[in-house]
Amino acid sequence: MADIPSKMQAVVLTGPGEWELQTVPTPKPEGTDVICRVHSVAICGTDPNIIKGIFPGMWPSHYPFIIGHEWAGEVVAIAPEVENSPAIAKRFAPGTRVAGEAHCGCGICANCLVGDYTICLNYGDNALGHHHYGFTTQGAYATYVKTSVKSIHPLPGNLSYDEAAMLDMAGVALNGVYRAGVKVGDTCCVAGPGPAGNMTLQLCIAAGAKKVIMVGRGARLQSSVQLGAVPVDYEKTEDVVKAVWDLTDGRGADVVFECAGTKDSCTKSPLMVRKGGKLVMTALAKEPIPIEWSKLTLAQVNLIGVRANPNTSDAALAMLADGRVNGKALHTHSFPLDKFGDALATFVEKRDGAMKVVLKP
Ligand SMILES: [Zn+2]
Ligand SMILES: [Zn+2]
Repeated sequence: MADIPSKMQAVVLTGPGEWELQTVPTPKPEGTDVICRVHSVAICGTDPNIIKGIFPGMWPSHYPFIIGHEWAGEVVAIAPEVENSPAIAKRFAPGTRVAGEAHCGCGICANCLVGDYTICLNYGDNALGHHHYGFTTQGAYATYVKTSVKSIHPLPGNLSYDEAAMLDMAGVALNGVYRAGVKVGDTCCVAGPGPAGNMTLQLCIAAGAKKVIMVGRGARLQSSVQLGAVPVDYEKTEDVVKAVWDLTDGRGADVVFECAGTKDSCTKSPLMVRKGGKLVMTALAKEPIPIEWSKLTLAQVNLIGVRANPNTSDAALAMLADGRVNGKALHTHSFPLDKFGDALATFVEKRDGAMKVVLKP
């Protein structure tokens, strides 16, 4: 810890809709936590809503609070208690380049024991070892972040910090592709060409899908076409559901990934699935949305929820490193941490085709 400054810079939420750049104490490692120097941290689609305060008492769990969970950086200190642990010293020695994961399960509940740690039954119980970094435990919009070794992954090869900051999105998309069991030859449809949708598109192609339809509009839809999608522009298409059926020989898609979360998209996505197909809910819908449940019953559609990115990080990093998932194509803007206001506005207003905006603390 000798060469780590005792104070660091951080974007600190001080109340609903309020944040400021502050100098705060640098966290100290304890237990099996390590301290990492944050080099790149991407703004997540959920972050602006946490900043606004639309999840009162839940995210953030308290004020003052540092959000940010899509980060990559370098281990700079490990706790004295585990300094002599061969497992930790080998995998997470200071200087190791890593990317972070938002969820750290308690490790002892029934769900964690079978690997489902993003649906930990002790969610939010920090005393039991559960952390949701940037949501219920301090995150990474800062020069340094304290994290459990359970929630960091060494970077393969020379994967850059900026590309590694795309891990969260790639991992969430991979969780959806795994849970849907996308097969070689499947026809997939993705609604919403944002970061999650474009990652899902690339992973469906990597999994062997013969066709991936993207429903969206504008520059984001164009970016999907560059990545291999067959586009359906909902601004220029009278009947979007029919367009998807026409592109699937009148069957509907084998798997539909709902990655937009809007009312319009969430009501239409279920109608694009073929009989016996799968509907994957990746987006976090921002309001209760009525859907035609009878269609799901009559078509025997399998409904699959996707919560974050359990057990996907090492595979997702490998895909990013070998270019089968193009992280660079999604990373459009970078800002220093002290330009956080500009970075946030660029992301929220999608200025200059902004997709993923990365802060460089
Ligand atoms: Zn995220
Ligand atoms: Zn648990």
